[in-house]
Amino acid sequence: MFIVGLTGGIGSGKTAASDWFAAQGVTVVDADVVAREVVAIGEPALVEIAQSFGDWALLADGTLNRAALRQHVFEHPEDRKKLEQITHSRIHSAMSKQLQAAISPYVILVSPLLLESGKAGLASLCQRILVVDVPESVQRIRAGARDGQTPESIDRIIAVQIARHERVALADDIVVNDGELLHLYAQLQVIHEGYLKMSSIS
Ligand code: ATP
Repeated sequence: MFIVGLTGGIGSGKTAASDWFAAQGVTVVDADVVAREVVAIGEPALVEIAQSFGDWALLADGTLNRAALRQHVFEHPEDRKKLEQITHSRIHSAMSKQLQAAISPYVILVSPLLLESGKAGLASLCQRILVVDVPESVQRIRAGARDGQTPESIDRIIAVQIARHERVALADDIVVNDGELLHLYAQLQVIHEGYLKMSSIS
């Protein structure tokens, strides 16, 4: 399976790019979506979280209280490990299943955290790393317009994500999304043709 890891900072255009790949018939596995699926209602991970942390970890409708849990692990770093022990292996196996089930010539694995541990983490599953790169000024404008976040809260997220120059240094391929969407799509078309060739000979 030829896996292309797709990443970029907040508001860089990962979704815009992965939607384009999906429209070409390429299977897209989204690590964030998988991470939400493994803690959905009825999943064993959700039951385990409630047992380990307490009922406060659930909302009245039985879904995960993400905001409370996020705050809790921020204040109790040791409990972040406990949470990761419950979720990580499940996320990995669900993701592997989706990757294995793909029928397109190659697969896009999209995650903002792809390069979190350099090339050792999620990136180790990938044959190529594709980065969507934009200046931080563009990230602030687009992420702000999309979810109404303040420039300060966007800056806080940018600060905890891998630095732009490090992300770019780990990339095999880079698309620059600082213009019109059509400009992004034109770059993706060239890259897509390259991936089709690479995946046919790998
Ligand atoms: P996040 O990691 O924050 O979820 P992302 O990397 O997936 O973000 P997108 O959601 O694709 O980024 O893009 C952020 C916002 O910018 C969206 O509202 C999207 O429609 C818009 N956008 C993306 N690319 C362009 C572009 N080239 N021109 C104008 N708007 C764009």
